[in-house]
Amino acid sequence: MNNPDFLIIGGGPAGLMAALAASDFGLKPLVIDENQKPGGQLIKQTHMFFGSKAERAGTRGFDIGIELAGEMEKRGIETWTNSPAVGYYPDGTPACRNSCYGELLWRAGTVAVLRNGQLHGLKPKAVLAATGASENFVTFPGSDLPGVYGAGAVQTLMNVYGIKPGQSVLMIGSGNIGLIVSYQLLQAGVKVKAVIEGLPNIGGYLVHASKIARAGVPVLTRHTILEATGENQVTGAVISKIDDKWQPVKNSEQKIECDTICLAVGLTPLTEILWQAGCQMNFVPELGGQVAWHDELMMTSIPGIFTAGDVTGIEEASTAMLEGELAGLGAVKYLRGESKELQIRIDDTACRLAGLRAGPFGQKAREGKCKLKECRR
Ligand SMILES: Cc1cc2nc3c(=O)[nH]c(=O)nc-3n(C[C@H](O)[C@H](O)[C@H](O)COP(=O)(O)OP(=O)(O)OC[C@H]3O[C@@H](n4cnc5c(N)ncnc54)[C@H](O)[C@@H]3O)c2cc1C
Repeated sequence: MNNPDFLIIGGGPAGLMAALAASDFGLKPLVIDENQKPGGQLIKQTHMFFGSKAERAGTRGFDIGIELAGEMEKRGIETWTNSPAVGYYPDGTPACRNSCYGELLWRAGTVAVLRNGQLHGLKPKAVLAATGASENFVTFPGSDLPGVYGAGAVQTLMNVYGIKPGQSVLMIGSGNIGLIVSYQLLQAGVKVKAVIEGLPNIGGYLVHASKIARAGVPVLTRHTILEATGENQVTGAVISKIDDKWQPVKNSEQKIECDTICLAVGLTPLTEILWQAGCQMNFVPELGGQVAWHDELMMTSIPGIFTAGDVTGIEEASTAMLEGELAGLGAVKYLRGESKELQIRIDDTACRLAGLRAGPFGQKAREGKCKLKECRR
């Protein structure tokens, strides 16, 4: 048994920023992550980030990951890698007695963590679920053939393990992930035959779309995949135009020869831990599906359990970092009480987060968060 005050599940940008913010105010968090090194999605992001300079725009994702992990190490914040949290068991024991929230509401739980082949039962006083998201899949005839991948998985293969997924790719989905991974495939010497998109417009930033268009990759909007062809592995795909009811347009089928099909069709928050803890969950399509209700400091309906980053709504690393920071500060407030210095930092972080979401690209998240706020039961 090892009982940290503040356990952070997930060492992506949200979890690492939460740990650093909490440590600024004297907490000693423990971060656990199922991967070999901390950084979450950042470790595979070779492109420079967009957005505000104040939130590291212009820096490559993996450099941000290295910077955050380096700061963690410098401060001696304990991080367990290769350590998935495999379950949360509410067990009815009082967790935290000096909470500034007054009445003790949270009945502590045990987080089961698998580490070095052993199951550890951790009983923290506060927990942050910063578990990120998983890739969505679509099914079509042949979608179970070897050679059909999630685009994020392809990015991991190439940029973390140095393995090309194939020689020629059809990308499904023109959001930022589809566009960025297409460009990175081109950089790795893989031919991208086309990017297809069901909607009438390209979903991602124009700057990413322009890069692949300049390299001669067609982006076909209002198109879908009908089937993947091949006996034992993908050898091609049949695509077709679709009408405004998403029905295939007759005689518009095209065959594309390729050995890899990448699906970049969205992400779904990874909320299992929050469900197991009994947090109030709400379906908010703008945030990517079922997410846990949370307050301004990222605390869920269960005092002491926090959530931040993609698991609370699919956005970006920049917003994940600021939500993580707020959750870390929220844990300080929950465990140690209020202070003027803490409130100044909370206000500053909340203001930067609102600033990031203020533009047109933040509209979906803004609407989703507003909806979620109103769901409190
Ligand atoms: C191709 C691509 C390009 C992107 N480009 C940009 C960009 O230009 N700018 C930008 O701001 N954002 C970008 N993003 C988005 C950004 O990467 C994510 O929004 C961000 O990483 C979310 O951070 P997070 O900490 O919430 O989750 P993640 O980064 O996903 O981290 C979650 C971590 O938790 C771990 N975990 C999950 N479950 C468990 C468990 N049970 N036990 C232990 N560990 C667990 C995961 O393995 C992971 O390491 C991009 C994403 C992709 C895929």
